[in-house]
Amino acid sequence: SPTLVALIGRPNVGKSTLFNRMTRRRDAIVDPTPGVTRDRHYARITWEEHPFVLVDTGGIDDEDDTITGHIREQASRAIDEADLVLFLMDGRQGLTPSDAEIVDMLRRTEKKVFFVVNKIDSPELELELLSPFWELGVDKLWPLSADHGYGYRSLMDGLVEYL
Ligand code: GDP
Ligand code: MG
Repeated sequence: SPTLVALIGRPNVGKSTLFNRMTRRRDAIVDPTPGVTRDRHYARITWEEHPFVLVDTGGIDDEDDTITGHIREQASRAIDEADLVLFLMDGRQGLTPSDAEIVDMLRRTEKKVFFVVNKIDSPELELELLSPFWELGVDKLWPLSADHGYGYRSLMDGLVEYL
């Protein structure tokens, strides 16, 4: 079965915006019955002939910005279910304690994780907006504007190398 790629991250970091960008492609097939699994949207994507299944784990969303047991549980389930994780953070907001807590969970998985810093809407902002995230000690950060497309092709090309 195709690789399952999960989008995870705090509310409002841009998961759905990225999901929509990835599913705007002509060949994408979005699960017509997302309501069956509450708060989750699935789609079949093909990038440069590499197929995978994308899941937008809306279930991690919570109005409250503190990491509750519920959010931790949702994130952990998404990580377990996925073969590969796209972890999104918000470059305009900067690194938050909740991000750091999810990163701690991600360190315990052997699955490939892409640490994506979204809302980098122009290349000139990249250096400055990425800088607080190096504190996480990850090898690579992927700058992205899910809205405008900056970094999108690099991310997708990087992702399919791990399918
Ligand atoms: P989710 O809760 O993680 O699914 O986040 P959404 O995709 O719903 O996006 C939350 C807000 O961030 C919306 O107002 C989006 O328009 C905005 N947003 C998403 N991606 C970007 C981006 O690349 N740049 C900027 N400036 N805003 C973005
Ligand atoms: Mg969403």
